[in-house]
Amino acid sequence: MNWITKIIKAGEKIKTAIRDRATKEDIAKSDWTSCCRGPILKTDLEKNLWVCPDCNKHHRIKPKQRFDILFGKNNYEIFKTPIPKDDPLNWTDSKPYKERLKSARKKTGLECGMMVASGTINNIKITAVASDFDFLGASMAAAEGEAFLYGIQNAIENQKPFLCISAGGGMRMMESLISLSQMTRTTLAINELKKNNLPYIVVLTDPTAGGITASYAMLGDLHLAEPGATVAFAGKRVIEGTVKEALPPNFQTSEYLRDKGQVDLVVERKDIPKTLGNLLSILLKKNSDISSEQNETAELSIQTREAS
Ligand SMILES: [Zn+2]
Repeated sequence: MNWITKIIKAGEKIKTAIRDRATKEDIAKSDWTSCCRGPILKTDLEKNLWVCPDCNKHHRIKPKQRFDILFGKNNYEIFKTPIPKDDPLNWTDSKPYKERLKSARKKTGLECGMMVASGTINNIKITAVASDFDFLGASMAAAEGEAFLYGIQNAIENQKPFLCISAGGGMRMMESLISLSQMTRTTLAINELKKNNLPYIVVLTDPTAGGITASYAMLGDLHLAEPGATVAFAGKRVIEGTVKEALPPNFQTSEYLRDKGQVDLVVERKDIPKTLGNLLSILLKKNSDISSEQNETAELSIQTREAS
């Protein structure tokens, strides 16, 4: 066998290996996923709220899974939000935008990338929105803007706090200025919520980036974040290329932003409902495990102990 035959045979082997590799659909349908220690059963991960028991990685989850954790399984109402006309700019890049929308809807079972629900935490009724990263990277376009505004309107009409569980790569450029205008629309809607003295809390999840960080995800009265989530405007490599300096390894993570004062609390997924319940109870002056009065008493007793 000469060297040419050897190369051809090796090429055939590589071709077969590539052809037999699992597709994205195969991976999605599989009972297994992967984390730090290699394969892990999805059912095992689910029991732990989709958090790896070994490395504590908070895997991305869907809006319904978020609401199940927050309000209890199926213990909430999902709203049907208005869907504006698809593809207003008749956009085509490597694929027509209409086709991208069609496959995103098929993949997620959602009409748009954002879901609005109403449920109860700590006996407090709240309206919440959550995004699905599998829907075109949870990018924001007209339909998602409508969903967000619908949620705020519902919160104002029923005098409820509003919770945003943010995720997404930014504004959806297939809708150009229409998607960018959602930054203004959501900002104005949040102002209306604040005029009504209703709390607006944001839980930042992985990844929250671009125009989402530059608008509604950073306008909360309080910002919670899941451990290790990437929260950024521009990406790390872009910034490094611009400032020509090496950035810290944990740059643009929840923990980094908390240390710099941009995030109030980094909270484990399992603790988010209780933390939200306590914070809302304090903000709305309702009875809770931690009331502001108890906090003052605790502070006083610490001071007394220190003084004695
Ligand atoms: Zn892991």
